[in-house]
Amino acid sequence: MVAGLLGDDFKERIREATNLVDLVSETVALTPTRNGTDYVGLCPFHEDRNPSFHVYPDRQSYRCWPCQKGGDCFSWVMEIEGVEFPEAIRMLANRAGIELPEQEKRAAGPRITREDRATAIEVLEWATKLMHQTLLASPEDSLIKRYIQERNLTEETIRQFQLGYHPENYNWFSDRAKGLFSERQLKNVALITDRSRGPGVRDNYVGRLVFPIINERGQTVSFGGRLLPGSNIESPAKYWNGPETPVFVKRKTLYGFDQARSSVREQRTAIVTEGYMDCIACHQAGFSSAVATLGTALAVDHVKFLRRFCDQVVVLYDGDAPGQQAAERSIELFLAEEMDIRIGVLPEGMDPADYLEEKGNDAFDALIKSAPEAWEFKLQTVISRVDRGTVAGRQQILDNLIEFLAGATGIQGTVREDLVIKAVCQKTQLDETIIRRQLHDARRQNTTRRFIRKDRPGPPASIAEPSSAADRAEREVLEIILTLPEYTNYIRHQIGGDDFQMPQHRRLLELCF
Ligand SMILES: [Zn+2]
Repeated sequence: MVAGLLGDDFKERIREATNLVDLVSETVALTPTRNGTDYVGLCPFHEDRNPSFHVYPDRQSYRCWPCQKGGDCFSWVMEIEGVEFPEAIRMLANRAGIELPEQEKRAAGPRITREDRATAIEVLEWATKLMHQTLLASPEDSLIKRYIQERNLTEETIRQFQLGYHPENYNWFSDRAKGLFSERQLKNVALITDRSRGPGVRDNYVGRLVFPIINERGQTVSFGGRLLPGSNIESPAKYWNGPETPVFVKRKTLYGFDQARSSVREQRTAIVTEGYMDCIACHQAGFSSAVATLGTALAVDHVKFLRRFCDQVVVLYDGDAPGQQAAERSIELFLAEEMDIRIGVLPEGMDPADYLEEKGNDAFDALIKSAPEAWEFKLQTVISRVDRGTVAGRQQILDNLIEFLAGATGIQGTVREDLVIKAVCQKTQLDETIIRRQLHDARRQNTTRRFIRKDRPGPPASIAEPSSAADRAEREVLEIILTLPEYTNYIRHQIGGDDFQMPQHRRLLELCF
């Protein structure tokens, strides 16, 4: 439909404005062939040892002879990004700086312009290099080098992930950006921020080991920073993550994906960890399909993104109580997704780095390979909490799982639902028809409840809609603290009042702490 609306003229304009060699080079390293008529590289669609993927600039087409993939710029984007034709058109138009027709733009909502985006990326890449060089040049007995040694990070790893260091100087970025970038440009990508007390601006990431967050195209879109133990910087936040900006959307970004991409594609599996260090430790030990979420739980958007590259995701959680609960809560979200999601739980208090060091690669590999499917994990945890030998215990298992299945509406009528029900029958020795009957009733009740809820009046008028992404995020954090106080301690280790932009939220957070 969209293609029809846009018309062939528009499509041809985009084709003319796109250089296929440049486009493919964003993903595949291409070299000119000897006679100079075409370019060749390793095929991204099959396991290719001899470069057999050709790009022909005169015809603006590509072809891999062994695996028979071929086409133009549109089919390339559809294949490599895993998107439909309309989205491919949009992406290429954006890349070529061609305005979409009016009706298309309205549908897509306001977008950042190509120039803004290019500048934002330029500023971020400048900062990446600056901090990386600073880390490499730091003396061996400096805090940063000592910390890196303590965490057993090799020089190769530091270079691979372009790790950096921001010295203990609040004007470091501002001073170095003079004559290169404006204050507004630095602010737009959160390298600097207004001082919370008094006038002027100050740098973010001060005194921290810095992890560049790199998107799938190899561009830095933000940073995460870890405060160094023993530094002079006073901050309640051990980790500080850059806020969302027009080029950085947390729930859509996975740390380390640029490094993991080819392994994820080859192995058809991604390992999802909880933090930068976890992800890096996996890579350093040779588990190169590891990525990390950015201070959020794995979201449906992440899964949709990963589905373009693999069919299985193993999510690693810490075995402590919050980790366990996070694992359980995430499961409902994914039951309906067409992805094989597995849950690997590490022993309590151990992160992947500890586990790899203490137990070795084989044990880690076994943990990944034997991770139960998400619903199976749920079943196991429920069973482990009650006595299966008693009728009451079995009833409790059943109640729990009925509630769980009834809540996961997307699974209704799928093969996976059948699998889960059969497994529940087996474990509880209850009759399948009873289970299906109860599930049916629970679903009907859920629908009724939702229907009634709709008729209730909305929230009081004094609560305004969130004014910004930061406002919304801060409210969510406060909501968690107020409704799940057992997480307060955990959250206190992750963020502090300084991380909040809204003064009233900051006060409330400090009161809770
Ligand atoms: Zn191929």
